[in-house]
Amino acid sequence: MEENIVRQKTVKDADREFERALRPLSFDDFTGQEKVLENLKIFVQAAKQRGETLDHVLLHGPPGLGKTTLSHILANEMGAGLKATTGPVLEKPSDLTGVLTTLQTGDVLFIDEIHRLNPVVEEYLYSAMEDYRIDILLDSGPNSRTVQIGLNPFTLIGATTRAGLLTSPLRARFGINCRLEYYDADLLSSIITRSSTMLGTPIEPEGAMELARRSRGTPRIANNLLRRTRDFAQVLGNGTITRDIASLSLRALEVDEGGLDEMDNRILLAIIEKFKGGPVGLSTIATAIGDEAETIEEVYEPFLIQEGYLMRTPRGREATEKAYRHLGFDFPTKTNS
Ligand code: ATP
Repeated sequence: MEENIVRQKTVKDADREFERALRPLSFDDFTGQEKVLENLKIFVQAAKQRGETLDHVLLHGPPGLGKTTLSHILANEMGAGLKATTGPVLEKPSDLTGVLTTLQTGDVLFIDEIHRLNPVVEEYLYSAMEDYRIDILLDSGPNSRTVQIGLNPFTLIGATTRAGLLTSPLRARFGINCRLEYYDADLLSSIITRSSTMLGTPIEPEGAMELARRSRGTPRIANNLLRRTRDFAQVLGNGTITRDIASLSLRALEVDEGGLDEMDNRILLAIIEKFKGGPVGLSTIATAIGDEAETIEEVYEPFLIQEGYLMRTPRGREATEKAYRHLGFDFPTKTNS
């Protein structure tokens, strides 16, 4: 009956709440990323045995693979509190100082999009990470003096989709560095099944697999597809997500057989139709499809490259034979003349 209650929330609120509700809270709940998890479990156990704060952790990888989730799990497993912020929000050194001075011993400070930190703020972070202190410069000119503020030992968890944009001094201060990988369909199918149990929506294994195969290797997308597909199951079926309901819903949501969504296909189509398959520069593609180069590079391109639809060459991006076939084009035979 809860479903019938009219909710007065914004779409964003609802999205955030939905994600929070499905977020695994412990190592045992977290599916996949085995190697990363194995190591993190050791580091957590060792820090706990020594009664120390966990070393600083850098989590990187494409969006929606579980960086925020893992940071909460690490705090939970350490029995520590967590404060979350993002790089762009910390505009001034005083913003950072404000957060750091409220941390209790052992707390986790999670900074999402850490590659977007203001360089001045980043400098302050160095001594905070290394020696748990910040040096604040008061006044300027002849009256300037530095005041040192001591901090409680804390763990910084930085998350980024663009590890390559991190400066070397910042990167060097993370003792633990983990790269999250895309999930395979079996793992995503278990995540979808776990989420549907939590949502009280029955799902057949074939239905879960159909959604999993077409979730771009990403748990966030898998959960979002599940959320929409349960609407189709409820309205057009008997409430259970079967393979047919999943296929019908994916068609309606314009997710194709390969799991590529509308934007993936637009990118490939632009390269093939407008630029003869490439090579073509990222910013040119961005202009052609009316999106930002950064979004294409962070969100779409890694998956297209991993799945073999796109190649990154020194001269730009090139559509592969698989991309041509996927969109129903003949692959042009290249001549050397
Ligand atoms: P972004 O880079 O956009 O901040 P993220 O990597 O921090 O993304 P999360 O917010 O942690 O991603 O995860 C997105 C959603 O996917 C959450 O609802 C989370 O519960 C779910 N999720 C992520 N990883 C897993 C996993 N391994 N098992 C189960 N659910 C997961």
